[in-house]
Amino acid sequence: MRKIIIAGNWKMNKTFQETEEFLLELTDFLNEVELNNIEVTICPPALYLEMATDIAFESKFSIGSQNISVHEFGAFTGEISASMLKSMDVEYCIIGHSERRKYFNETNEMINTKLKILRRNKVIPIVCIGETLEEREMGVTKKIITHQLEEVFNDIEIDGNIVIAYEPIWAIGTGKTATPQQAQEIHKFIRKWLTDNYSERIAENLPVLYGGSAKPQNINDLLKQPDIDGGLIGGASLDIEKFSEMIDIAARN
Ligand code: PEP
Repeated sequence: MRKIIIAGNWKMNKTFQETEEFLLELTDFLNEVELNNIEVTICPPALYLEMATDIAFESKFSIGSQNISVHEFGAFTGEISASMLKSMDVEYCIIGHSERRKYFNETNEMINTKLKILRRNKVIPIVCIGETLEEREMGVTKKIITHQLEEVFNDIEIDGNIVIAYEPIWAIGTGKTATPQQAQEIHKFIRKWLTDNYSERIAENLPVLYGGSAKPQNINDLLKQPDIDGGLIGGASLDIEKFSEMIDIAARN
């Protein structure tokens, strides 16, 4: 049985004090819930990773980074490497997020390099893929997803420690969520691609998360879909009430 992952992507939000307060409240909340098969992870701004991993060490959630450098080490001022994340017990790292593709010109090739670096350093990648509204309306969603998968997973062996997040770009931060049926169709398609290109065992075990305006009101229906294994949650993960409610719903799903 695949685990369910509820991951919060905080983007460039929260101060140090707000982060600490949220994580302590999350710790208290998680002590009260039966998590069953659910893993909770928070991806705060990089500056707070050390404090966050310290709190997570005593708690029932893990910590992820929102990004890493395309380089492994060296003269790259301002960058953060995968080995740095590993040395701080950071478990996950988001790569390929549409905001990084759009605002920082990240390509599938760069994401493929990051994926390889994360694998070497044993940090679990959360690989984001998804189509724009224009691509969806043109009816080329599956073609775009296939292209992203082919380039991002080029020359990658999968041994289980990889997570994929399907994030339709038109649903990120817009309040527009893919319907559970729209999301399920693409999740199933991704799993089929994994079967065809790797194996049925890998396809069956690899968690595929949904991301795009997920919130307490829609998470239940999304999680009921057979190929949706959790959520990568932006806006709603900034609010402890909403995020806790989503965890609670997932735990009872
Ligand atoms: C995201 O940033 O990955 C995301 C899904 O954001 P939101 O939930 O705000 O749409």
